[in-house]
Amino acid sequence: MRVTITMACTECGTRNYMTTKSKKNNPQRLELRKYCPTHKKVTLHRETR
Ligand SMILES: [Zn+2]
Repeated sequence: MRVTITMACTECGTRNYMTTKSKKNNPQRLELRKYCPTHKKVTLHRETR
């Protein structure tokens, strides 16, 4: 039960990462600290649809 999601930078909205998650383990929106090439630094990325 895994779904494909897109991770977008919360500061500029750029969609930088595609990943999968388990709906069972993560029923809410995922938030991860990842590198944003637009900012050239690590920012908070949130799951988008
Ligand atoms: Zn960004």
